[in-house]
Amino acid sequence: MTTCDVTIIGAGPYGLSAAAHLRTVKGLEVRVFGEPMSFWQHNMPVGMFLRSNWTATRIADPNGSLTLEAYQMACGNHLSFPVPLDRFVQYGLWYQRRAVPDGRLRTWRPMGKASEWSWEMVKSLILRA
Ligand SMILES: Cc1cc2nc3c(=O)[nH]c(=O)nc-3n(C[C@H](O)[C@H](O)[C@H](O)COP(=O)(O)OP(=O)(O)OC[C@H]3O[C@@H](n4cnc5c(N)ncnc54)[C@H](O)[C@@H]3O)c2cc1C
Repeated sequence: MTTCDVTIIGAGPYGLSAAAHLRTVKGLEVRVFGEPMSFWQHNMPVGMFLRSNWTATRIADPNGSLTLEAYQMACGNHLSFPVPLDRFVQYGLWYQRRAVPDGRLRTWRPMGKASEWSWEMVKSLILRA
């Protein structure tokens, strides 16, 4: 059995950002499960443009180096405003490759109904992750 200090279930913008920040804590082992940006890739309306403003669309990172501007410069992909969905997904995947490159793509799938989980079971699943 392997252990870690923090397990993050889901690699969306907040999960990735939380992982990037937590990894700055020396000695803290953080693992992330889930397909990066999958909700945005598979569940958002096709052709959608983000409604959030430019600043809020950026995924926060501890060094301030994974900004929308940095993504544009690194990839040569111009971002119009409002930001189109497909470009935001690409930005999120770019962020993930830099901040959380060792995330695990599998789904975290506990057995049984969530309503029947005990705290001990959740703890043991997290410790086994
Ligand atoms: C139509 C629509 C438009 C939106 N527009 C904007 C916008 O313009 N700007 C903005 O800032 N926000 C917008 N939002 C809100 C935005 O989707 C959320 O605020 C944001 O995605 C939250 O990020 P998150 O990382 O918490 O969650 P999510 O992006 O939902 O990520 C959670 C991830 O967890 C994964 N997951 C769940 N269970 C498991 C499991 N058991 N194992 C592994 N992985 C799992 C999911 O697949 C998903 O990828 C919009 C939402 C909708 C529905």
